[in-house]
Amino acid sequence: MTVVDEGVQRGKRAKLPTWVWLMTLTSNQGFCAYCAVAPSTTLDHEEPIADNGADIWWNFLPACKPCNDWKGKRTSVEWLIDQKLHREQPTVGFDTRRMPLRMFHGFEERVARIRREIREAGRRDWFRHHYGNARHKIKAEMLEHLRICREELSSYPHLPWTTPNVYASVGGVCTRHMCCGHWHPHARSLDAVILTDDQYTAFSKAAFREGMSEGDLTAKLIAAYLISGGDTALSTDRRPKATVPAQHR
Ligand SMILES: [Zn+2]
Ligand SMILES: [Zn+2]
Repeated sequence: MTVVDEGVQRGKRAKLPTWVWLMTLTSNQGFCAYCAVAPSTTLDHEEPIADNGADIWWNFLPACKPCNDWKGKRTSVEWLIDQKLHREQPTVGFDTRRMPLRMFHGFEERVARIRREIREAGRRDWFRHHYGNARHKIKAEMLEHLRICREELSSYPHLPWTTPNVYASVGGVCTRHMCCGHWHPHARSLDAVILTDDQYTAFSKAAFREGMSEGDLTAKLIAAYLISGGDTALSTDRRPKATVPAQHR
């Protein structure tokens, strides 16, 4: 992909909006890109700041503090090369210690996968939209946002950025199913839909397959019914199958 590099801070740190932190630290399900077992609490600069690396989202990987410190002023590729050399010749000093096998194994693939996750446009837009330009003052504040964000994300049956829009999104208003679409200013809700247990279970499963909430699937079915002028399965069942005489067409 092409990466726009205009106005990017290189070689020094900027005060980043909170959404960048949350987007990065919730990738890889909240775990460190390197050891994959500790929760991520720091933004690792893949291309190190000390090496004129960019202080922007596409240069970040989620890391725990010990891994970030251990990696130091190396890219992940350089770290892996050092580690391979260290494993062959432990006394030369390519690295300070051996990576545990669970960390060494699949290292490159894991980093590549997390980079793809971070570069996913829909996911990024969701974080940008939901947190705007808000900036936290202290790290503890960001960590509290992170805790709430992870709780919210785990409450969705589907990740919100993977679900379709209820309406075409205009002017940066989020209208995603499973997300703000439920509170769209022009939306109305039905009070109750009565179903039998079996119907409800089947409907709930269907909504899950569609990546929608039950309410959104109900709305979609109603919309389809209205667009067809009521001429759907509901009414055709009662309508005679006989062809309409030519003069009445
Ligand atoms: Zn780690
Ligand atoms: Zn939303």
